[in-house]
Amino acid sequence: MDDKLMLMIPGPTPVPEQVLRALAKHPIGHRSGDFAKIMAEVTEGLKWLHQTQNDVLILASSGTGAMEAGIINFLSPGDRVLVGCNGKFSERWAQVCDVYGLATERITAEWGKPLDPEQFRAALEADTDKQIKAVIVTHSETSTGVLNDLETINRYVKAHGQALIMVDAVTSLGATSVPIDAWGLDVVASGSQKGFMLPPGLGFVAVSSKAWQAYTTAKLPRFYLDLGKYRKEAAKNSHPFTPPVNMFFAMQVALKMMQTEGLENIFARHQRHMNATRAAVKALNLPLFAADHASSPAITAVAPVSVDAEQIRSILRKRFDIAMAGGQDQLKGKIFRIGHLGFVSDRDILTAISALEAALQELNYEGASVGAGVAAAAKVLAS
Ligand SMILES: *Cc1c(COP(=O)(O)O)cnc(C)c1O
Repeated sequence: MDDKLMLMIPGPTPVPEQVLRALAKHPIGHRSGDFAKIMAEVTEGLKWLHQTQNDVLILASSGTGAMEAGIINFLSPGDRVLVGCNGKFSERWAQVCDVYGLATERITAEWGKPLDPEQFRAALEADTDKQIKAVIVTHSETSTGVLNDLETINRYVKAHGQALIMVDAVTSLGATSVPIDAWGLDVVASGSQKGFMLPPGLGFVAVSSKAWQAYTTAKLPRFYLDLGKYRKEAAKNSHPFTPPVNMFFAMQVALKMMQTEGLENIFARHQRHMNATRAAVKALNLPLFAADHASSPAITAVAPVSVDAEQIRSILRKRFDIAMAGGQDQLKGKIFRIGHLGFVSDRDILTAISALEAALQELNYEGASVGAGVAAAAKVLAS
């Protein structure tokens, strides 16, 4: 049915109507006083959301652009970097490092398993002459639904003393606490279409003073993604290039909505939705791809055995106008992923689970009785 599409994918995520309406306004000049006021307001809002006093810079890019900027502004060719690799996105950052001629060392874990912080500790402790310049970690690995133990890995980076910690927080920011100042995270990248209740189009990078120190000697090439340019202009509530000004109108509204809800409530809502979704999947006797102790608050990956993941997705899409995500690369056809990130309510979770049960029934799935998933989810949502 037209206009009924429900996004249960991990980006783009649903956008509130008042945010969409803000997008429909006539653009204004990005060198105007009116834009400067908006820039000042959204920058303050972004610092609140990022729990930081560091610079939070706004790029016209997707999350990948923000992350690439976060890597290339603070490093030089040949620098040794450790990259945690346990899924599609984390492996992308290792590729970016390779492309720019860094000495990339991958610390890997099987897709679906969390990174082992001990491997980071061992590599960092062995580096007595402090050659490791950065450690790159994807907090929430969207391709598998795994939440990596950033806090512990970061503790080992801090003990090393020299290396910068660079974080892909694309699907953790706005879903779970990423306390940038409290943990001393140097570079944290994210994108508007994930936890921000905004359409795609903006990337964000939070930068610490330690990272800015590294910036002064970093030699990798950069132009559009030169974060120094963004910092200089942001100090004047301006932007180095023409930004998508309508996205700034939208961001004003979205940030206000988030501030009204409150950070703790936002995190609690994502936790509740993750718990409800996982309880439902368990009650349906479908295998969860990520373990309970390492599960992402943004996305739940399910690995069905006796029913086909792609058939489930197809029924959800065709019969119920619900988009869920499939598996990527080697996980294609093996898993489907339920996004519960951003502007998602309890009702959305119940709707998604009941539609999933209807799809399973249509596929003659016999692993659980119809209604078991909804009952389990409803119980969590009511608690
Ligand atoms: C979505 C996502 C990205 C960025 O993807 P873009 O398509 O470039 O916005 C990066 N990392 C993770 C973990 C993501 O989920």
